[in-house]
Amino acid sequence: MEAFSQLSQLVVLLQEGSGILSSYREQGFVVASSLYADAGQYELASYYANEIFKQGLASDGYTCVDDHARIAALFGSGQWQGIESLMAQGIEVCIKERNSLYANGIRYFVAKLDVSRGHPEQAIALLRKNYPAAERDGYAPQLAQFNALLAAAYYETGQLQLARESALAAVTHGTHNHYAESISTAYRILYLGAKQQGDVASALAYHEKYMTADKGYLDELSAKALAFQTVQQQVAAKKLQIDTLNKQNRILQLQQSLDRSASETNRLYIILLLTVLGFIAFWTYRIKRSQLRFMKLARRDGLTGIFNRQHFVSSAELQLQYCRKSSRQACLVLIDLDHFKVVNDTHGHAVGDRVLKRAVAACQKHLRSTDIFGRLGGEEFGIVLPECTLEQALGRAEQIRAAIADAAGSDDSLAVAVSASFGVATIERSGYDLRKLLIDADDGLYRAKREGRNRVRVCDDAQPRERVAGVAVEQA
Ligand code: GH3
Ligand code: MG
Ligand code: MG
Repeated sequence: MEAFSQLSQLVVLLQEGSGILSSYREQGFVVASSLYADAGQYELASYYANEIFKQGLASDGYTCVDDHARIAALFGSGQWQGIESLMAQGIEVCIKERNSLYANGIRYFVAKLDVSRGHPEQAIALLRKNYPAAERDGYAPQLAQFNALLAAAYYETGQLQLARESALAAVTHGTHNHYAESISTAYRILYLGAKQQGDVASALAYHEKYMTADKGYLDELSAKALAFQTVQQQVAAKKLQIDTLNKQNRILQLQQSLDRSASETNRLYIILLLTVLGFIAFWTYRIKRSQLRFMKLARRDGLTGIFNRQHFVSSAELQLQYCRKSSRQACLVLIDLDHFKVVNDTHGHAVGDRVLKRAVAACQKHLRSTDIFGRLGGEEFGIVLPECTLEQALGRAEQIRAAIADAAGSDDSLAVAVSASFGVATIERSGYDLRKLLIDADDGLYRAKREGRNRVRVCDDAQPRERVAGVAVEQA
């Protein structure tokens, strides 16, 4: 079976052909042919024997061994048409090559053909003529073949004694059991001979041996055939397995490539989605930011950065409402820069702006986070001081006044001095109404101006109100 296993691989290589020297391929075909002929697979044997000639291997390193293999295969498979000329040609080649062993190998088939066609005397002549050469070669299986075939031919021609001698010789040479067929034939002739001579005891003994040898021969033949069939099955099964694996592999590959492209598409979608989301988030952020900036700008005074009039009013009202609910103290301070028109007229508007900003900065230094500070217009400012008594408010207004007045000395780049007048109102007198608080604070401011500027004053009830401040309270 091992031989057939190897053989099945060998024939694949032989068929592919590439990379193998033609002389080795030729030998390979010979081996394949002989092995298949041995296993009774004559069709295959002759196929491989013919391949040698078909593939033109015979021309290159061609020997009579090739002819022998081809003849053996054709003979075994019963393809006897034109075999005689092939045999003659083969013998000729063997003689030329001085290969007497294979020449006799072919002659054996010639003799066998003669016996089969009813010409045993021709077979006897051929075998006897070449027997000495076979003896010289001393190849026991061949001698066994020769003798067995001679025995059969002698028996056919009625030469029982010679048949018996040849048969015994065949048994002697065939002890190695290389050619079970020869032994079987030899014992068959011995049995038939003994029977014809009336030697019943010998006939029985030979018959028994004939049966054993024949069974052995047939067993061997069927064992080889079985081995061949098994290997064929194994090869077919393996091929099927490989085909199945290949198909599975292909399916897996397809599946993988599908998965890959699906996940690639998914990934692209995710990236696209993330990009869109990122874009939306970015724009939302930008819009929100510009909205906030816009809102902040809308609430602030462009020059000083503090609350503008509108935002001051709404913030102050909210704060006063809160103070009213929690019954807290609160004061309002109004500030107006003194003779600011002169500053503008003397130094120009740019300097006037800087002085305005400096005054605002001076105020901020004295403010708490809860105080509400705004520009009410021109050079007028308002401060709501929650949780602050009138006394405290007057004190803080005084601090701010001093800070504005001193600001020129602390800023070398802007030596223009300016002062401011302050009017203070308290919820204790005016209540939590912003409008009333503004009127009363403006009253104090008017008093401060009248009394010489750069000072802090509260509403003077004794004085009739001649002026409702530049603060357009009605608009508040
Ligand atoms: P008084 O002490 O009586 O308040 O005198 P005054 O010069 O300050 O009087 P008034 O309130 O009539 O003048 C305010 C001046 O402030 C008029 C205007 O030229 C100036 N002014 C108003 N807004 C601005 C501004 O934004 N920048 C500058 N540079 N000047 C301004
Ligand atoms: Mg003014
Ligand atoms: Mg003024």
